[in-house]
Amino acid sequence: MKHLLFICTLMVFCFPAMAKAEINIFACEPEWAALAKEIGKDNVSVTAATRGTEDPHHVRAKPSLLAAMRKANVVFCTGAGLEAGWMPVLMQQAAGAAVQNGAVGNFMASDYIALMDKPQRVDRSMGDVHPEGNPHIQTDPRNILVVGKAFTERLSQLDAAHASAYQANLADFTSRWQVDMKKWGAIAAKLRGTPVVVYHDEWNYLNRWLGLKEIITLEVKPGIPPTPSHLQDVLAASKNADVKVIMLSPFDDEQAAEWLKGQMGAKIVKLPFTVGGIDGTDTLEATFDRTLQALEGGTS
Ligand SMILES: [Zn+2]
Repeated sequence: MKHLLFICTLMVFCFPAMAKAEINIFACEPEWAALAKEIGKDNVSVTAATRGTEDPHHVRAKPSLLAAMRKANVVFCTGAGLEAGWMPVLMQQAAGAAVQNGAVGNFMASDYIALMDKPQRVDRSMGDVHPEGNPHIQTDPRNILVVGKAFTERLSQLDAAHASAYQANLADFTSRWQVDMKKWGAIAAKLRGTPVVVYHDEWNYLNRWLGLKEIITLEVKPGIPPTPSHLQDVLAASKNADVKVIMLSPFDDEQAAEWLKGQMGAKIVKLPFTVGGIDGTDTLEATFDRTLQALEGGTS
C-alpha cells in the first residue's frame, strides 16, 4: 500500500500536465466557448451556457448553469445587455467574487468592440431594444480576432504560468483566421450590395462586413413578433428594394419569412448565427464557412 501511494504521488509529480485544468471558464454563448478553447486548449475547461440553436436573449437559469457558475474562475460573455434576462440571477445566486463585475475573471467581449446602433434614447415604445447598442458582434469575423486577443491577455493575467502557451495558441489561431478571412473576402465581393430582409437586428455586424443592405426587419420592433399590418409594410419595402434573401437564425420564427417568400419569391437563407447553430458548424471556422456558402447560394 505504501508502495502504491509512493507511485501515485510520483505520477502526479512527474506528469503535472495530466492534472485537471485549473481554469474553469463559463462561456455565455457558443462562439465564446469555442474561442476560449482555441486560446486555452488543455489548460482550461469550458462550459457553454447556451447551445447554438438557443436564443441567447432568453435562457432559463437552470440548476446545471448554477453549478457551472459556482466553479467558474472566468465568465466570458457578450455583455452589452444581451444576457440581461438571465445572467443577473446566475451571478447573484452562484458566482464567486473572482467573476463578479469589475473582477479580473469577468470578461465581456463587447467591451472591446465599438457597438453599432446605440439608441439616442430608450423608452418602452421601442420594444425590447438593446440600450447599450447592438450586442450581436460575433457575426463579424474581425470582431472574433479582436476579442480573442483581449481574452488571451486576460487569461494570461489570470494564469501567468501558462501565458506563453496562450500567446502561442492565439498566434496559431490568428494565422489560420487570416487565411480564412481572405477566402471569405473573395465570396464577400460577390455579395456586396445585396438587399436583404432579416427577422431581428441580429446580422448588423455581418451585413456591414459583407456590404449587405438590410431593408427591413420582420419583427415589428426588437422582441415584438410580426403583425399583419407590419408584414404589409415589409412586403412593400421588399418589393421596392427587390429583396432576394431573407436571413434567419436557427431560433427565428419562420412563419413570416415563409409568407414573404410566397408573396415575392425571395429565398430564405438559414444561417448558423453561432457555433453549432446548424449541423456541421461545430467550430468558428465552419460557422463562417457555412454562412458565406449559404449567402452565396441564396443570391445566385
Ligand atoms: Zn438582439
